[in-house]
Amino acid sequence: MTVEAAPEGAFAIGCASCGAVQAAPRAAPRGVLLSCRLCEAQFERTSGRSLDAALASAGATFLLLIPANLFPLMTTAAMGATRTSHLASTAAAMWRDNRPWVGIFVSLFLIVIPLVRFGVLSVVLAEVRSGRIGHHTGRAFRLDQELEMWAMSDVFLLALMVTYARLTTSISVRLDIGAYCFIAAGIMTLVTRAFLDRRAVWEAISPSPSVAPAGPAVICNACGFVLPETMNGGHCPRCGNTIHARRPGAVRRAAALTIAAFLLYIPANLYPIATLPIGFSSTHYTVLEGVRDLFQAKLFALAGVIFCASFLIPILKLVGMSWFITSVVRRSRRHLVLKTRLYRAVEEIGRWSMIDPFVIGAFVPVMHYNNFVYARAEPAAAAFSFVVVGTMLAARCFDPRLMWDAAEIRHHD
Ligand SMILES: [Zn+2]
Ligand SMILES: [Zn+2]
Repeated sequence: MTVEAAPEGAFAIGCASCGAVQAAPRAAPRGVLLSCRLCEAQFERTSGRSLDAALASAGATFLLLIPANLFPLMTTAAMGATRTSHLASTAAAMWRDNRPWVGIFVSLFLIVIPLVRFGVLSVVLAEVRSGRIGHHTGRAFRLDQELEMWAMSDVFLLALMVTYARLTTSISVRLDIGAYCFIAAGIMTLVTRAFLDRRAVWEAISPSPSVAPAGPAVICNACGFVLPETMNGGHCPRCGNTIHARRPGAVRRAAALTIAAFLLYIPANLYPIATLPIGFSSTHYTVLEGVRDLFQAKLFALAGVIFCASFLIPILKLVGMSWFITSVVRRSRRHLVLKTRLYRAVEEIGRWSMIDPFVIGAFVPVMHYNNFVYARAEPAAAAFSFVVVGTMLAARCFDPRLMWDAAEIRHHD
């Protein structure tokens, strides 16, 4: 791949989706969206983004997560007794019910990773804002970006809504202070995402070269820095990531994870995912029976959300990943723009499938009354969580640029 020399006032921008390198104006007029000339991917928009607002909302998210973890989430009352849950008791209940993997995923995605992610992001943005950028700033921001998809406070926000709406149709339920803090933290997670201009942060940490390297170039997988091809195998000067022209073992790893997820998808849908005490008799539910139950409770919107998140999205991810992998292997030249767009969608929406395991996690600690009225995660909960995590990792390991390489589309003019 060769690169055109960037004109004055422009910098080299690399497309992570197709591998094309092009020159972009350093100060794009407001409202103008830069997009890749090859795959039509939109590079990050700059309008509506603000470093100050991103710092304020990242800091607020971090501070809200502390009481969200410490204070009670939800209280139910039935048969003269009450049950109160904490975020930690959600994970603990999974351990107690012999679903340790679901407990580990809940602890990581809802407790540990959000705290680490927003702690790191707040420090990075404060350093960028005050101009005190050190050697570690780029590495810290890379860590933040790698953790972003695994910090699922926003997914739990929706899971809490589903849990509350379902419980309130059959039992007396109250959201506690921890839940309000968590709801606020979930909303602030989305606000941070809306304000954060990632490319501007990378440019502040270390500006892209004004003139693109003459001759073949490689793009850093983590921060998008455009470097001469001689840097391949070395470390990115901006973020410390090891430079690979393409993600190593991309097809092999993505294929192995996709096949594993396909195999687990069968038990995940065939076996019960949870036992829930709806109408005061505990009953097994598979994923689709859970959707049917929400539908019968006239919670149509929530039934739609769960159907999409738990049934459609996993199917879309599995079929999509299989298509991308086979098109690299078969050197297909067809539908490249569509496949690239679909790949980005698969990578983006995959995490929302964790909503079902989170709903079960929120149900279990507040619905344990006696040997007849109880909620419990069932075997499919672990299989289902592995399908979600496996497909997220598959999308992560895959490199969409291989689809363009396989089609032998020239990157230079
Ligand atoms: Zn592109
Ligand atoms: Zn980098």
